[in-house]
Amino acid sequence: MTKNYLADRTSLIDASGIRKIFDLAATMKDPVNFSIGLPDFDVPQVIKDAAINAIQSGSNRYSLTAGLPELRQALARVTAREFGWDDPQVMVASGVSGALLLVFMALINPGDEVIIPDPYFVIYKHIIHLLGGKCVYMDTYPDFKFSAEKLESLITDKTKLLILNSPANPTGVVYGEKELKEAVEVARKHDLLVLSDEIYDKFCYCGKCPSPASTYEKTIVLKGFSKSYAMTGWRMAYIAVHKGLSWLLEEMIKLQQYTFVCAPTPFQKAALAALDYDVSDYVKAYAVKRDLIYTGLKKKFEVVKPEGAFYIFVKAPGENATKFVEKAIKNNVLIIPGGVFSQQDTHFRISYATTNEKICQGIEILNSL
Ligand code: PMP
Repeated sequence: MTKNYLADRTSLIDASGIRKIFDLAATMKDPVNFSIGLPDFDVPQVIKDAAINAIQSGSNRYSLTAGLPELRQALARVTAREFGWDDPQVMVASGVSGALLLVFMALINPGDEVIIPDPYFVIYKHIIHLLGGKCVYMDTYPDFKFSAEKLESLITDKTKLLILNSPANPTGVVYGEKELKEAVEVARKHDLLVLSDEIYDKFCYCGKCPSPASTYEKTIVLKGFSKSYAMTGWRMAYIAVHKGLSWLLEEMIKLQQYTFVCAPTPFQKAALAALDYDVSDYVKAYAVKRDLIYTGLKKKFEVVKPEGAFYIFVKAPGENATKFVEKAIKNNVLIIPGGVFSQQDTHFRISYATTNEKICQGIEILNSL
C-alpha cells in the first residue's frame, strides 16, 4: 500500500476550474487576453530606480519583521490622514495575499464564520477553508450591492469577520458611503471585525472610494502596491489598524516572523518612493478603457457599470457561463468563468487591463458570439 504523504488540508483547495481555462489558453495564438489581473503599464522609472539603488547600496538583508521603520512611519502618516486615526499601527507584508494569510491565521479558529460578499476574490475562501473556518456567502447578484438586512440575516454567534473589497475584484463595484455606513452599523451591533481589502483603491472612477475604516475602528485595512504601481512581482503591501487593534497587529507580526520573515527589503525602499508617485494619469487612461468596454458590451450583454478596479463582470448568455467561456476561447478571447469567483456559474470576468485596440477587438468578437 502506498503511504499517503499529503496533509488532508491539500484536498480543501481546488484549482481545477482555472487550470482548465489556462490549459485551453495555452493553445491560443495572440489572443485577446482579458484574463490578466494586473495593469498593462510597467513600474514607473523612478520607482524602478529606487529599487535598483536600494540593491546597489546594500539594502539586501532582512528588514525588521514589521518592515523598515521609515516606510512604516510614512505609511502610518498616510493612514492617519486617510482615516482620521490617531497613531495608527502599520506593518509591511509580502503582498496583500501574504497579508490575508496573516490576518486569517491570527483570527480564524475551526468553525469560525466569515461573511464574504459573493462574487469574491478567490484567495479568501481557500485560506479560510485551510484554517477550518466557514465561509458564509452573501449573494449580491444582480447589482453586486447589499443591504443591511441581507447582511444581518447571515450573522450567527460564530460570525467573527466581514470581508469587504471595494473597488472589487471581479465586479469593479465600489461601495458607496450609505452602504458602508449600513455595513458598519451591523458590524458594530454584532461586534464583528471588518477586513477591508483596498488593493484597488487608486483605480477609482467615481471620485473617491470610501472605506469602512473612516467610521469603524475595528477595521483591518489591507493596501497593496501590486496594482497601483504594476509591481505584482515585487510582493509589497501593508496592513493598517487603529491603535485599539494593536494587539492584533502584534500577533500578525509574530506570525510573519515565523513565515515570511519580512517583505523584500529593496522593494520596501521602492515602495517608499512609490508613495510620492502620482498615478492619476494611469487612472485616467483606465477610466477610458472602462468606458470602452462598458459601452461596447451593454447593448448585447447584461452588465453593471464598474466604478473601480479594472474588471467588468458580465452575465453570460444561456444558463452556463463556462460553456460561453469555452466558446469565447475558441474564438480567441480569453475570459474567466464566474464560477471561479462565485458559488454560481452565470457570469464571466473581463479584465480590461490591456490596450484599447485589444479591448475593441475583444468587444467585437464577444458581441458576435
Ligand atoms: N486582493 C484582491 C481583491 C486582488 O484582486 C488581489 C490580486 N489579484 C490581491 C488581493 C492580492 O494581490 P497581491 O498579493 O499581489 O498584493
